Amino acid sequence: MNLTEIAKVKSKYKEPIGPDKMKKTESIIEVKEEFEDGLYGIEEHEYLQVLFYFHKSEGYDLISKRRIGGEKGLFASRSPRRASGIGITTVELLKREGNKLYVYGLDAIDGTPVVDIKPYASFMDEASISLQKNNPRYKIEKMIRYQNIDELLLKAGEFHGHYCPFLALGVLAAADALKRMQKADAGMEKLLAVVETNSCFSDGIQVVSGATFANNALIYRDLGKTAVTFVSREGGNLRYYLKNDKFLEKDYTEAKELFEKVVARREGSRAEEKKLKELWKKIAFEIIEEDIAKYFKVERDIEIEVPDYAPIFEDKYCQECGEKIMAVKAVEKENQDYCKKCAQAEYIQLDGSGLTVKKFD
Ligand SMILES: [Zn+2]
Ligand SMILES: [Zn+2]
Repeated sequence: MNLTEIAKVKSKYKEPIGPDKMKKTESIIEVKEEFEDGLYGIEEHEYLQVLFYFHKSEGYDLISKRRIGGEKGLFASRSPRRASGIGITTVELLKREGNKLYVYGLDAIDGTPVVDIKPYASFMDEASISLQKNNPRYKIEKMIRYQNIDELLLKAGEFHGHYCPFLALGVLAAADALKRMQKADAGMEKLLAVVETNSCFSDGIQVVSGATFANNALIYRDLGKTAVTFVSREGGNLRYYLKNDKFLEKDYTEAKELFEKVVARREGSRAEEKKLKELWKKIAFEIIEEDIAKYFKVERDIEIEVPDYAPIFEDKYCQECGEKIMAVKAVEKENQDYCKKCAQAEYIQLDGSGLTVKKFD
């Protein structure tokens, strides 16, 4: 067997530091001239798998004590001291300049020999697809267990459409609560989230807790407070209230002023809008690094009334439009059933202003 060095890593790290820190850096893979043609078309790929050689580590143990989880066998660990000395990692390809690949997330030190590069293919390399088919919240539960809050915020951003401080606060609160309550199996109404606001905060809560608008585990109380109570149907609850409500004014003055201009007064230019988006993102990812106590007052086992499991209602049909309606929402007029629209009845709407009573006319 023989391995060929095809490239070398250029990194600001000359010595190994923690893998978490190393994964968060940009580095360059400098491909040897004779292999440069082999990079043809690589720009089409966003992610690459890089195989490299741990040139500085010597020897190996078949069983050793690991950073997390106690003693482990060599092949059950990611130790850099390996029988063949091969490391593998997935990186983001930022750009290519000739024989240089600028990448993010390469946990190899400066001077590491690279032995192979190939594009990451989710259908081949994504290991958790079947696990996620069995449990849709598999990944999120894992993130909660290991408190990978930044990954949770990425997930929440997927759902919410942007990153913002209040989304981050929702993520932070829910990740803390679920870890403490060890109720990672939310989503089937065992864990309820009683939210007191319909701001960005509540989207962070929904994604992380799995208590959502439509699975009836999210309960909305129109109180207008940045607060949430996580309630286990098996007993116990935790309420989080944002006590540090002036954090934007205090810690992020520029962003707060820009927000007032762009969002509140709608006077911002395109450039200012972009700037705010950037700042919002930066702040969001800073917030989740903080201690929960910096932002929240946390109370345990407060007095709270929660509804029963959502009932399954029978259906009725509107006499006028013919559309099917949940029986409890039907309006009866002269022994006939109508929908609220045809009956011109009052209904309640949840929108930016919270809950409001509306009427069709
Ligand atoms: Zn938002
Ligand atoms: Zn109708």
